[in-house]
Amino acid sequence: MPHPHTPGLHRLADETYAYLQGTCATGYSNAGLVCSGDEALLVDTLYTLGQTRQLLSAIAESVPAVDICWVVNTHHDGDHWWGNQLVADALIVSSTSAAQTMRHAGPETVVPFLSPDTDPRLRAILEPFDFAGITPTYPTITFDGELELTVGRRIVRVIEVGPAHTIGDVIIHVPDQGVVYAGDVQVFGGHGVVHSGPIDHCIRACDTILELDADTIVPGHGPVGGKPEVIRVRDYLERVRDHATAAHQRGQSPAEAAREFGFAEFADLEFAERVILNIGAVYREINGDGTPGAGQLLHQMVDLEESLKTRVSA
Ligand SMILES: [Zn+2]
Repeated sequence: MPHPHTPGLHRLADETYAYLQGTCATGYSNAGLVCSGDEALLVDTLYTLGQTRQLLSAIAESVPAVDICWVVNTHHDGDHWWGNQLVADALIVSSTSAAQTMRHAGPETVVPFLSPDTDPRLRAILEPFDFAGITPTYPTITFDGELELTVGRRIVRVIEVGPAHTIGDVIIHVPDQGVVYAGDVQVFGGHGVVHSGPIDHCIRACDTILELDADTIVPGHGPVGGKPEVIRVRDYLERVRDHATAAHQRGQSPAEAAREFGFAEFADLEFAERVILNIGAVYREINGDGTPGAGQLLHQMVDLEESLKTRVSA
C-alpha cells in the first residue's frame, strides 16, 4: 500500500493515524494519533488555532469515541505546539530542554517577521497564518532520555534525539504497530532544516530511527514514508556536512557554498534554498562563535531561492 501524502487523517495501522497538511512548506506540519480503547495520544498540535481545530475535528469525525489523554510535542518550533491550549486537559509531554526553550518561543517570536520593515520575501512565508488568540500552553510532564507511556493497553515510547533539528527533539515509537513519528528530524519530499545541530546528531537520529526497524515513518513535514526515505535524509545530511566542511576549509562564504551544492542529486526535494540554513549550521559548528546567525542566513535563503529560480528558468 503506498504511503499517504494527501491532506487529512490517514489510518496507518491498527488504531494508529497520521494527520497531514499536504505540503512540506513552512508552517504546515504533520500530527499523529495513537489510540487504544477509548484513550488516545496526540503527537503535536499545529501552528495556529485554526489548523489545530481542523485537526481535532478530523479526529472527532473519524475516531469519535476517544479521549485525548496525552499530547507529546516533538520540539519547541511553534508549528508543533502553538495549538496546545485546545487540548489543555491532556497531560502534555516534551523533553526538558524543549519545554525550557518554549518559554522563549511563543507567538511573539513571529512579530519581527511580520513587520512592514521586513524583507517582503521573508514576510510572505508567514503571512498565510493567523496567529491570533494563541496562549502559550506548556508541557506538564518533561523528561530526559526516554519515557514509556501507556495509552489504554498500548505502550508508546518517547525517545529524546536532540539536540539535532532543535535543542530538545523527541521521536515517538509505537512498537506493536511499527510506526515512528519523527518530528522535524525527518522531512520527506523537501529539504529539512538543521536549526541547533550538531548535524552529526541529525545523522545519528536517522540511525536511531532505522534501528527501531519500523516500516512506517511519519515525518514532521511531508508525506508518510519508510526506511528508504530515512536513508535518503541521512544521505542528504552527510552530503551537506561534507560539502559545507570542504567549502569552509576553502574559505567560501555560506552563500557561495550553497550555490555550489550538488542540487542535481536531490532534485526531487522541494525548498532547495533551505540548504543554506544547513550549510550555515555546519559553519556555526566549526566557527564556534555563533556565526553565521540564523537571521542573516534567512535573508541569504530568499536570495538563493531567487537565484535558483532563475537558474531553472534560464
Ligand atoms: Zn516543523
